[in-house]
Amino acid sequence: MTTRHFPDRAGPSGEDTRRHPASYYAATLDTDIAAPRLEQDTTADVCVIGGGFTGLGAALALARAGKSVRLVEAGPIGWGASGRNGGQVHLGWNKDQQWLAERLGEPAARRLWDVALAARAFLDTLIDSDPDRCDFRAGHIHADHKARYVALTHEHVRFMREAYGHEALTPLSRDAMRAMVDSPAYHGGSLDMAGGHLHPLKLVRAMARLAVAAGARLHGHSPARSITPTPDGWAVATPLGTIRAGQVLVAGGGYAKGLLGEIDARVLPINNYIATTEPLDPVLAARLIAGGHSVSDSRFVVHYFRVTPDHRLLFGGGETYGYRFPRDIAGFVRPHLERIYPQLAGVPLAHAWGGTLAITPYRLPCAREVRPGLWSLSGYSGLGVVLAPFLGAALGEAMSGRGNAAFDCLRLLPAPRFPGGRWLRWPTLVAAMSFFALRDRI
Ligand SMILES: Cc1cc2nc3c(=O)[nH]c(=O)nc-3n(C[C@H](O)[C@H](O)[C@H](O)COP(=O)(O)OP(=O)(O)OC[C@H]3O[C@@H](n4cnc5c(N)ncnc54)[C@H](O)[C@@H]3O)c2cc1C
Repeated sequence: MTTRHFPDRAGPSGEDTRRHPASYYAATLDTDIAAPRLEQDTTADVCVIGGGFTGLGAALALARAGKSVRLVEAGPIGWGASGRNGGQVHLGWNKDQQWLAERLGEPAARRLWDVALAARAFLDTLIDSDPDRCDFRAGHIHADHKARYVALTHEHVRFMREAYGHEALTPLSRDAMRAMVDSPAYHGGSLDMAGGHLHPLKLVRAMARLAVAAGARLHGHSPARSITPTPDGWAVATPLGTIRAGQVLVAGGGYAKGLLGEIDARVLPINNYIATTEPLDPVLAARLIAGGHSVSDSRFVVHYFRVTPDHRLLFGGGETYGYRFPRDIAGFVRPHLERIYPQLAGVPLAHAWGGTLAITPYRLPCAREVRPGLWSLSGYSGLGVVLAPFLGAALGEAMSGRGNAAFDCLRLLPAPRFPGGRWLRWPTLVAAMSFFALRDRI
């Protein structure tokens, strides 16, 4: 099998892979992540394709297990979703524990909760390794944009406290929500002190440093053009050098379309957008979200926001399907921001950028050994900050031959194909997403 992918300089969304997008994160990262271009043929036990949380987590675990690892990334390390996401830290999966228990059985749901807790604890070790602690702040608010959702949220809180002992999760009444989030848009919700927010490019930096310290070799600006079977494994060709490796992990997230047809049927890319204001008056900024927590809401096309250490509102909202980004991203995000915070109407926006994420039919990650020794892990569906570093590492351990209980658990998750077959898959998804996005407004 030979696959071809990735043009020289532009990424699949038509972006320039020579540098990070013009995000708040790239503007506030003070040290570079060194990763020289691959410029010669070489060999390794494992070649990892993709320098985001998944690929870096795998490279770290493999190197710690004594394997020789080469990681190739099309842009600078962290160029994809990992270096430009909302930075929201959520505990758990995209499906709640009741859904997981009904679908997979109570024991599997319990095991998956343990994986989520272990992923959250792993994130803490990564944060602690960074000199800035990745700008981490604790506390994540779930905000209900429809009054009828609040009782369901409070019931969920009760269940998680009683059945899972998750006492960091508390309900928020309408008044409590209004005291925390200075917006007329919400009717209540919950606060999870196990969640929070961070600077995702600093998390990338922390992971890259740990992986390099453990012996992994990282190569930026080295797009994998093809993956070809060889008598003893696989050959991954980049423009200036080929890596021959016993095993390959494709960790290309939403940017990997075209690399593995079998994964393209199960994982599709969608685009999401973020903007930040200029630094606000600190008193005003503190009022927007009391306690400095992160917020995400109950919309299908979720609004997520938080205040940065330099008192900007960082606001994510709006999605498009397909690879092209809107020409005016700030103008695209602004109406969402002003709907939540009308008091910020007309506020100057300093940074605006988009990113591509990988989604699956059930919004749960998809891990597969596509051929012997050729692996893929992606599809966190907007919930990768906690899960991707840990699950990447879990897969890395499994690839090293050590066995890994978290990875065994991951294999329990359903990973069906999107309906519609090769040609109708995409229009079917766009129609379904547009329908649900419309329901947000009703
Ligand atoms: C706008 C946005 C906001 C988000 N907000 C949140 C949030 O607040 N909280 C949360 O938990 N999750 C969030 N997510 C999701 C989260 O960012 C992802 O789940 C996570 O980063 C996935 O990591 P990854 O390593 O699998 O993929 P990525 O970080 O996308 O990394 C894949 C990398 O592979 C590279 N690549 C692809 N093909 C090739 C190739 N052929 N050769 C070499 N390299 C290649 C790409 O350049 C890319 O850098 C958000 C995502 C986006 C886009």
